[in-house]
Amino acid sequence: NQQSSGQISHLALDIGGSLIKLVYFSRNNNNSVASKAGNASSNGNSRTLVVDGQIHFKRFETSKINDCIEFIHSRKLHLGGVQHHEAPTSDKIMIKATGGGACMFADLFKEKLGVFLDKEDEMDCLVAGANFLLKAVHHEAFTYMDGRKEFVQIHHDDLYPYLLVNIGSGVSMLKVDGDGKFERVSGTSVGGGTFWGLGRLLTRCKSFDELLELSHQGNNRVVDMLVGDIYGGTDYSKIGLSATAIASSFGKAISNDKELEDYKPEDIARSLLRMISNNIGQISYLNALRFGLRRIFFGGFFIRGQAYTMDTISVAVKYWSKGEAKAMFLEHEGFLGALGAFLSYEK
Ligand code: ADP
Repeated sequence: NQQSSGQISHLALDIGGSLIKLVYFSRNNNNSVASKAGNASSNGNSRTLVVDGQIHFKRFETSKINDCIEFIHSRKLHLGGVQHHEAPTSDKIMIKATGGGACMFADLFKEKLGVFLDKEDEMDCLVAGANFLLKAVHHEAFTYMDGRKEFVQIHHDDLYPYLLVNIGSGVSMLKVDGDGKFERVSGTSVGGGTFWGLGRLLTRCKSFDELLELSHQGNNRVVDMLVGDIYGGTDYSKIGLSATAIASSFGKAISNDKELEDYKPEDIARSLLRMISNNIGQISYLNALRFGLRRIFFGGFFIRGQAYTMDTISVAVKYWSKGEAKAMFLEHEGFLGALGAFLSYEK
């Protein structure tokens, strides 16, 4: 995602427990680029959104913060905008930043780049980012079910209220009623960090991508106890449970018929992904029910555009709500907070 000749302004950061997200803007020197919000391209860790110039999205692992600082330095992203003139003699370069790391790494940014991090509230940023994307980007929200992705057009007047579920390391659930109007109504510590941490302990895999890749190849039925396993292969139809419904995540691993080594990492990874996605889907639905919300938008980098994750969350929401509530996902899923911090330059 090379931006070469463009003039950089406004770098914003979201420094989370697992990942650092960067959003920055480059103005195009020529005017030939279509200036329409919503033109997006992506490759791996980078995305681009064309908005009379380009908004760039980039992520790094928080443990590799020095790579992130080197990236900012090599592209001079931090020199884009001098925001505050605190004293006549010393111009201070302020960079908008959110997430826990905005406090924790402030000294490092000052030391290595000579910039000050101007902290913005994480929840404010999440909501600002989500509201912006849902209003400004044509192809942003989509449903995902049975392998089918369908973009959803939401009219500005009909956006609120909605439930925003951000699945980062941990999970936050916010009831959003308007611009800057929201309440954090719930959350769970069983989130993306749990999937990655527990997955690493159980499978010994080396990276998050490897864990995801493993989960693609696995079969959760080897590890999960299904209704059919308990009811001799038949449904428990009286209470509407099919034979294939999971009665107990990981419940089949109690069996003495199998040596522990015989449980394959890929089956464990898949069961874990399913368990966590299901659980988040269910808690989200309960909160939507609590406040009478029909729409639930899921963001955060746990999702990573993964078919199986989105499918599981969608099915959980559909199942528990008996089709009343809808799970929706966002193209810029992991960048809500960073985008919110970016937008806060305008405040
Ligand atoms: P946070 O702000 O807490 O870091 P994110 O929205 O960035 O939250 O999501 C972090 C989660 O994203 C991780 O817990 C993990 O489940 C998932 N994830 C996706 N890609 C990666 C990656 N390359 N490395 C680590 N975790 C990743």
